[in-house]
Formats: sequence, structure tokens, C-alpha cells
Amino acid sequence: MERDEKTLAIKRSVELLKQGATMLSIHCPKCDSPLYKLKSGETVCPVHGRVLVVSRDEELVRISLESILSRLEEKIASRLSLYLDLVEEGNDEEVARKIRLWLDVLEGIRRVRMERRATGEGKSQ
Ligand SMILES: [Zn+2]
Repeated sequence: MERDEKTLAIKRSVELLKQGATMLSIHCPKCDSPLYKLKSGETVCPVHGRVLVVSRDEELVRISLESILSRLEEKIASRLSLYLDLVEEGNDEEVARKIRLWLDVLEGIRRVRMERRATGEGKSQ
């Protein structure tokens, strides 16, 4: 961040705080300044204004982990589909072992999701 931008960020941050905004633990992807949550629920960067479509910080955190988990699930699913042919060929034990490993991973993903929901992790307050 350039010096002028930094000064501006600080000045605007103070204004935002005066307006009752709260500082979040996430940063602007453009300038790395801390983001603020307005009373209206909007998330803004002091320099760039409303940079994010996502309006709440907890949503942002949840979405990023969620997208990773979903992609992982997709990959595992396609991996598992490879074993379908092997099951038909009858390499029973080896195939069963590998399938079980991947199913364990899938179960782990589900568990992470459930725990996050139960504890409300990702929420800032
Ligand atoms: Zn910014």
C-alpha cells in the first residue's frame, strides 16, 4: 500500500468507526486494509468502498472453506468412480481398502462441516 493510500485508509477507518462500523479480521483483497462492517451489515474497505459482493464477514469465511470442501468432494467422487471398473474386475481387497480410505476423507469433510455449523465457527461475534 502506498503512503497516501495508507493515510487515506486510516482517515476513513476512523470515520467508519465513528459511524459505528466494526473492524473485521479479514482484509481487502486489493489493498490489504482491514475491512469494516457497517451497521447496515455491508462490508467495506476504507479505501475501495464496497469491494465485496458478500455482505457479511462470516459468510466470506464460510464460503471460502466451503468451496474448498466442495471441490475436494468432487475430486474424491471422480476418484471413487475410477474404482467402479476395478470393483467389476474383482481386485476386491485392494480396491475396498482404497475406497474405504476415500470414504474416510469424505466423512471427515462432513464432520468438519457439521462441527463448523454446531460451533458457529467463522462468525466474528
Ligand atoms: Zn481496499
